[in-house]
Amino acid sequence: MADVAPEGSAFDARRYDSRMNDLLAGDAQDFFTSYDEVHESFDDMGLQENLLRGIYAYGFEKPSAIQQRGIVPFCKGLDVIQQAQSGTGKTATFCSGILQQLDYSVVECQALVLAPTRELAQQIEKVMRALGDYLGVKVHACVGGTSVREDQKILTSGVHAVVGTPGRVFDMLRRQSLRPDYIKMFVLDEADEMLSRGFKDQIYDIFQLLPSRVQVGVFSATMPPEALEITRKFMNKPVRILVKRDELTLEGIKQFYVNVEKEEWKLETLCDLYETLAITQSVIFVNTRRKVDWLTDKMRSRDHTVSATHGDMDQNTRDIIMREFRSGSSRVQYTPSGVLKAVCFSSSGCILIPENYLHRIGRSGRFGRKGVAINFVTREDERMLFDIQKFYNVVVEELPSNVADLL
Ligand code: ADP
Ligand code: MG
Repeated sequence: MADVAPEGSAFDARRYDSRMNDLLAGDAQDFFTSYDEVHESFDDMGLQENLLRGIYAYGFEKPSAIQQRGIVPFCKGLDVIQQAQSGTGKTATFCSGILQQLDYSVVECQALVLAPTRELAQQIEKVMRALGDYLGVKVHACVGGTSVREDQKILTSGVHAVVGTPGRVFDMLRRQSLRPDYIKMFVLDEADEMLSRGFKDQIYDIFQLLPSRVQVGVFSATMPPEALEITRKFMNKPVRILVKRDELTLEGIKQFYVNVEKEEWKLETLCDLYETLAITQSVIFVNTRRKVDWLTDKMRSRDHTVSATHGDMDQNTRDIIMREFRSGSSRVQYTPSGVLKAVCFSSSGCILIPENYLHRIGRSGRFGRKGVAINFVTREDERMLFDIQKFYNVVVEELPSNVADLL
């Protein structure tokens, strides 16, 4: 049990972290400056009004840990290395940094973001476009598998920023459809991923074509030596912002359990909770797709507003649903795509296997919302609850009757 990590990638991250420390102990020591300023609200970051509007309209209320630390130095034009595990909001960090610094009166490409996959590049483009909606930003995703002619046409007609995969971006630069002269910000997203996919040479080639004074941002979950090498080659007095995984945990989330004795009683218990508590929003984790459908039906027939997502839905549909949820118009139940192994049935909050447990609960609370995690426990789950408490060194108390006061 002790070697179970909260998330699949944890082992690598630790290994890399320790390599990173070795390197830092050596000659890399004075290469990075750390940057410790924290801005707890988007309002405190000195962002343009229209960018703030975009951020709030997107449904973000409070910046995540990396956003609290990373947006401002990026906006100051500093070279930054920002390291935080996946799912912590790095996209909005560099998108905000870019959107804040673009000169909208000049329709020339001023920012270039590279991502390891087409899907990711397109996703980033969507986020940038949404956050920059009130700024009138023109962004284009330059990815393989799409028409070269179309790309050329769009680029020639003028954009403020390009997000793309290395191959197509390099191609566009080579054909001079993408002109580098105005590029002043260069971001590598998922740098570790990019290197492990063998994009190193292409990244170097692209970098050679950019103006020498370009601001560089490297965003990554881990910092393998090859990523460090990149940072040393391309960056100028970079600041390193590191959000450790410990800081991403259960802060702000109280955990309880309810003994429901029997599986069949979970639904009733859940409905009771909704009646007694002023639950504004909740995410209910369920373990199979079938149960998502089942629970959605049951909850709807009792007049609860519920939306459901699961791994079999396409990304677009999930985005829409998550947006509904963030804007407060619905409650969501969510099953991530089939990662669960050992599970108890759960028609509602449930006990998950430890490695997913922390990750999921942590995610619910990560963006500054205070939360309560209520685990429904049957007889068979007791052992697991015990293990979880031990493993994560947390106390999960029985749900007290005054739980409403804690919300
Ligand atoms: P990363 O790039 O670090 O893996 P993402 O930028 O993809 O993480 O963000 C993960 C999820 O968190 C996305 O669905 C994003 O919309 C959401 N998110 C990011 N920042 C916030 C925030 N401040 N408030 C609420 N949700 C956020
Ligand atoms: Mg990301």
